[in-house]
Amino acid sequence: MEIHGSADTTRKFLTKMEDGSLVESVIIPAAVAENGEKSERVTLCVSSQVGCAFGCKFCASGLLGLKRHLTTGEIIGQILSAETIAEKRVNNIVFMGMGEPLSNFDNLADALEIITSHRGLEIGARHITISTSGFVPGLKKLAAYPRQIRLAVSLHGATDEVRDQIMPVNKKWPLSQLIPALEEWSRGRNQMPTLEYILIRDINDSPKDASHLVRIAKRLHAKVNLIPYNTVEGLPWKRPSEERCRSFRDAVHKARIPVTMRYEKGHDINAACGQLRLRKEQEKKRKYAPLTERDFS
Ligand code: SF4
Repeated sequence: MEIHGSADTTRKFLTKMEDGSLVESVIIPAAVAENGEKSERVTLCVSSQVGCAFGCKFCASGLLGLKRHLTTGEIIGQILSAETIAEKRVNNIVFMGMGEPLSNFDNLADALEIITSHRGLEIGARHITISTSGFVPGLKKLAAYPRQIRLAVSLHGATDEVRDQIMPVNKKWPLSQLIPALEEWSRGRNQMPTLEYILIRDINDSPKDASHLVRIAKRLHAKVNLIPYNTVEGLPWKRPSEERCRSFRDAVHKARIPVTMRYEKGHDINAACGQLRLRKEQEKKRKYAPLTERDFS
């Protein structure tokens, strides 16, 4: 196991599974509680697959494709390892690491039973968030799943035109299918979904994009979480200026949508999903690649 600490105390660890696959998880401590006192909250960002088949264009995990699903034991193992590293109980879990959790639904559902059970890890369903890129068949299964797990949708574009450009999943399940599936999930639950929206310069950060996002958030009674893009080595996307990010947030706020802007923690330890594993895989390839003239220059 390889552990990377960062200046903001976010810690990322990379676990080598029995078959040699590398899986990353991120421990994110909350420094301050809502009442201003020191928080005991320890969040773990968990991976659900080795790599990812969904190939979102801004994401390091999608660059190497899907190797395999993680087993239930491997999902739970990440939580137990994190508790050993942090020397604290993990009490908040987000399935936002490598992989599309809803495409590994059976193993995910078994893991959720162990995580929430009194005989297991005893973490309340409301302290667990599943993030999806918009995998509609999985969302339908989740809608029928009885526990009050939180849902975050990686929207990142509020029109098919933008989503098609950066998220191949949208070609198969466009907004005309995704939005009704989210409405189905919301029905009968007293929960708001969160729309995650990575702000990428000149791709989805215009005032017009903000108004499309507002329209969807209103329809879904959703919260919005804006994340200025975390640069990934080897990818062309850029973070918009501070000013552009702030005016996007203000436009959403003005429309009375609950909105937060979150800067990725652990920027200095490759904490964007999949980056550490990608770097390691690239290092491995370089190590075994035949020598070229450049190696001698
Ligand atoms: S953002 Fe999520 S769904 Fe998209 S490629 Fe990365 S891990 Fe897969």
